[in-house]
Amino acid sequence: MFANKEEFKGAFLKKLEMMCGKSFGESTQRDHYFTLGNMVREYVSTSWINTNERYRMAKGKQIYYLSIEFLLGRLLHHNLLNLGLEDVVREGLEDLGIDLNRLEEAEPDAGLGNGGLGRLAACFMDSLASLDLPGHGCGIRYKHGLFEQKIVEGYQVELPEQWLRHGHVWEVRRAELAIEIPFWGNVEVREENGRLAFRHVNAETITAVPYDMPVVGYKTDTVNTLRLWNAEPSPYPIHQDILKYKRETESVSEFLYPDDTHDEGKILRLKQQYFLVSASIRSIIRSHRKRYGGLHSFHEHVGIHINDTHPVLAIPELMRILIDEEGMGWEEAWQITTKTISYTNHTTLSEALEKWPVRIFQPLLPRVYMIVEEINERFCQQLWEQYPGDWQHIEQLAIIAHGEVKMAHLALVGSYSVNGVAALHTEILKKREMSSFYRIYPEKFNNKTNGITHRRWLLKANPLLAKFITEGIGNGWIREPEQLSSLAQFKEDSSFLEQLSQIKQQNKLRLAKRIEEQTGMMVDPASIFDIQVKRLHAYKRQLLNIMHVMYLYNRIKEDGNFQMNPRTFIFGAKASPGYYYAKKIIKLINTVAEKVNRDPLANEKLKVVFLENYRVSLAEEVFPAADISEQISTASKEASGTGNMKFMMNGALTVGTLDGANIEIKEKAGDENIFIFGLSADQVLNYYQNGGYHSMEYYHHDERIRQVVDQLTNGFFPDTDDEFDPIYDSLLTENDQYFVLRDFSSYVNVQSQAGKAYEDQGRWRKMSLMNISGSGYFSSDRTINEYASDIWRIKTLGIK
Ligand SMILES: *Cc1c(COP(=O)(O)O)cnc(C)c1O
Repeated sequence: MFANKEEFKGAFLKKLEMMCGKSFGESTQRDHYFTLGNMVREYVSTSWINTNERYRMAKGKQIYYLSIEFLLGRLLHHNLLNLGLEDVVREGLEDLGIDLNRLEEAEPDAGLGNGGLGRLAACFMDSLASLDLPGHGCGIRYKHGLFEQKIVEGYQVELPEQWLRHGHVWEVRRAELAIEIPFWGNVEVREENGRLAFRHVNAETITAVPYDMPVVGYKTDTVNTLRLWNAEPSPYPIHQDILKYKRETESVSEFLYPDDTHDEGKILRLKQQYFLVSASIRSIIRSHRKRYGGLHSFHEHVGIHINDTHPVLAIPELMRILIDEEGMGWEEAWQITTKTISYTNHTTLSEALEKWPVRIFQPLLPRVYMIVEEINERFCQQLWEQYPGDWQHIEQLAIIAHGEVKMAHLALVGSYSVNGVAALHTEILKKREMSSFYRIYPEKFNNKTNGITHRRWLLKANPLLAKFITEGIGNGWIREPEQLSSLAQFKEDSSFLEQLSQIKQQNKLRLAKRIEEQTGMMVDPASIFDIQVKRLHAYKRQLLNIMHVMYLYNRIKEDGNFQMNPRTFIFGAKASPGYYYAKKIIKLINTVAEKVNRDPLANEKLKVVFLENYRVSLAEEVFPAADISEQISTASKEASGTGNMKFMMNGALTVGTLDGANIEIKEKAGDENIFIFGLSADQVLNYYQNGGYHSMEYYHHDERIRQVVDQLTNGFFPDTDDEFDPIYDSLLTENDQYFVLRDFSSYVNVQSQAGKAYEDQGRWRKMSLMNISGSGYFSSDRTINEYASDIWRIKTLGIK
């Protein structure tokens, strides 16, 4: 864009005057961000147009990744990096007295997701473009992303998030491509030319307007598209009450549901799902028709991937269009649909499996419901032939049963590929949760272990480490992250390891400053930074972590000779606003923090920090500063985890259970470079199946546990009354469904081993290096290459 920084400066100042109508002297940080952002987007537009043109000409297959969440974070710095413009811009701005890192903070996070699932979608967008693969995202342009979290007197308070308040520089509104989405109404059936024709009439429509964002690949001309749909009133509403209609319409893209693990049972949520799916598929079909005329070869040119079951209505919606609008017969439509749709499963938690009551589904989407019924009937027919007379089995597998539509079953039946997100997770799907479907469709099941983009989570988030790695092994790892493995050659090089540790120290200093800024608290960068950041959920067991802190505190208070390496325990977590128990855990963490941090006897060794409003931009400062990564979910519950990979890539050592991708992290880092504890997934699942666990026994037989559990309710924390009764009850009365007490002792042991290992800095640094060195496998480039070759069967398009 600019041959040198002088050229950049000239262009920047000119653009600033044009866009903001101010002189440089009057301009603010936000003006600078706005100006630079617009310059970058405009710069990208030629490649964007060319990429689309290239895809059109090449006529190959393109992928559309449908996701109800995209947790993008900030884009400016990442885009500059991918475009190779970072240095010239940084230097040019410096001459003008502007710090790029400060300027970047004027950009709000695009927080259109809850956690791992949404962040995965964002990482995939980056890898698709960087690998020059024709893959685009489709999502919803929520006016308010995930709520902003404040902590007030130890409690979580939620504020509406406002990322669009000052406009968004990366999006382009494409009003001419708007699509009308019908809801409610009824279906008219008529006979036309000897076959039945269905028409959805008396519908209330909502207009879906696309906002396109360019997805810039790393040092390539490929610019893919992320299309986010905005819900707006239709021009000709049949509604009487216009204001009510407008309000209801806009509510469809107003809020992101702040939870992806509970089915809220809300009409609005189902409306959002159909809105996303229908708008995306119609727009895909529109451009397909333009290029190829009919839809008979649709599946050869288009792949539609659904990220979890939220977009599973893609299956009946595609069927509906092929049959009702294209006039195809059922069989051909079914062939095309099931060759187009592929599905990723993200969880085996039964409370997270989506089910919709027929009484909501049918009136809202009458024609789509008819098609789901027909899919169900044909599937049950097939089951009947396979398992004649076994009604119970058929009922269990049916898509519609007991007045509910089971979205996962629809996905399993209507797609050609079903993948889990880590090796263990896929095995659990095949052997347990979905074993009946696995018997029917063994060829559909496959594993794609999740990944993260190393460009954001290492190159951008940890510039010191990235530079140091490049000095050591060259810059080939940026394109081929598996080259990180050659870092292993330095494992006995004490000067290399010394420098590695200095970088960690500097990153810890950076985080310490952020902590002071946010909380006013001083933490010691020489202490071990022991970090757990992720959504708050019972299965993720933040409770186990904070109980360990309470245990350490008790030891310090009671045993004057107790030795431990000073540790700073850092938490970051949002709880879903309606998740009462999770909010109690946040209160407990803050209550323990209050007690420990104020106690002069303890706070030399122990500090507890709760970082408010955990989100992508904060995460980028957290991972590089971690010594210990807490990945302590109840085994079998965490499908993969991706936070675990970000920590590893930044040289933190994992304290974790054999769950999700931790198992693969252990393989890649080496058994001696990870701290594993607790029950295995098989043991947990066997307990669930056969019983035999009695948390009360652990309470009675382990004094350490009894002391900590009693402290929840015995006045140990002043002025908390019955605040923590629900936690106490979950552990004892409800028999501790997540095996916190069962794993406590093993956790304490492994934590103490980790502390000892840290004392031997030579050993620790080597362990840290081996984690970085083994982390290349967890780049989402590897994951996306696997999706591209095994599931989607796509190649780069039109690049020589
Ligand atoms: C990576 C990431 C997550 C997922 O973390 P897990 O530990 O895998 O649950 C959640 N939120 C943000 C902001 C992330 O960057």
